[in-house]
Amino acid sequence: MAYKAEYIWIDGTEPTAKLRSKTKILADGDELPIWGFDGSSTNQAPGEQSDCVLRPVKSVPDPIRGGDHVLALCEVLDIDMTPHPTNTRAPLAAVAERYADQEPWFGIEQEYTFLKDGRPYGFPQGGYPAPQGGYYCGVGSDEIYGRDVVEAHMEACIQAGISLSGINAEVMIGQWEFQVGPLGPIEVSDQLWLARWLLYRVGEDFGIAATLDPKPVKGDWNGAGAHTNFSTKAMRESYDAIIAACDALGEKAQEHVANYGADIEHRLTGLHETAPWTEFNYGVSNRGASVRIPWQVAVDKKGYIEDRRPNANCDPYVVTRLITDTVCSPRA
Ligand code: ADP
Ligand code: MN
Ligand code: MN
Ligand code: MN
Repeated sequence: MAYKAEYIWIDGTEPTAKLRSKTKILADGDELPIWGFDGSSTNQAPGEQSDCVLRPVKSVPDPIRGGDHVLALCEVLDIDMTPHPTNTRAPLAAVAERYADQEPWFGIEQEYTFLKDGRPYGFPQGGYPAPQGGYYCGVGSDEIYGRDVVEAHMEACIQAGISLSGINAEVMIGQWEFQVGPLGPIEVSDQLWLARWLLYRVGEDFGIAATLDPKPVKGDWNGAGAHTNFSTKAMRESYDAIIAACDALGEKAQEHVANYGADIEHRLTGLHETAPWTEFNYGVSNRGASVRIPWQVAVDKKGYIEDRRPNANCDPYVVTRLITDTVCSPRA
């Protein structure tokens, strides 16, 4: 019996990369081979030297096709087998290995917005729904749009072996969130990219698109983030390590914000549960802070912190690399 492997990779679109995939049919028992694609169609190569290489790095059961079919997340290489410039997984792997002894864990809250007929799902044609207030974790067909897609996506993720920790409806109508983790930096990032692919793919079956646009509606409507919860072994044992992590992030604040997703200045305005992108602060329970220390962590005097700055459209390979490097590297 043949099986189908969906080769999934991240392209070179600027400023925000897109997911691509294509299907390879393999004989029963065959290992996933290295494969290629036309990089000139994905902003990854010029037309006269168009070949790029796909190397599978993680294979999971395909919940869409079922059976023995698989999803194969790939990294992109040049034909000399070195990482392609758009391959952000390779530099993360080096940092993750360097600091593996500190056991960094990440839990990422992926917010996103459903689109139907070219506008956020639930927005009436040419107008606006009732102002925000009742939609977050709401129930009822006047407030909730797209729950059938959310349920199907959640089930697909579970069947694919993705470590979802939950889902919820968000503050803007048609906006939702799922959480992946806690897991190590590479594992959480691989799983988040696969979960994003499944979100788009499941949406096809409902005629509903999803966008990671960090500010899909201008004005008094919440943006979409990817709050990144983080701990090391030391932080899970001591409050001093929690505070040291916050201080380390503060010292590198601008470098982080510049790499946390395109158009971050449109989302981190200081309104709608954000801190301004030009400033850095941290605080217990404060959802207007750059970095929040959950109240339970302040009570227990150990645990994790929440970096609230990453955009929904961030690259988790970049975000987890920066946080791991900044917090785990020795400081003067
Ligand atoms: P919020 O209250 O900000 O909405 P969520 O419940 O949506 O928080 O997400 C919290 C995330 O933090 C989850 O993904 C969870 O797995 C993760 N998390 C919990 N403990 C840790 C930890 N020790 N280190 C890293 N992440 C953690
Ligand atoms: Mn959340
Ligand atoms: Mn949220
Ligand atoms: Mn959060």
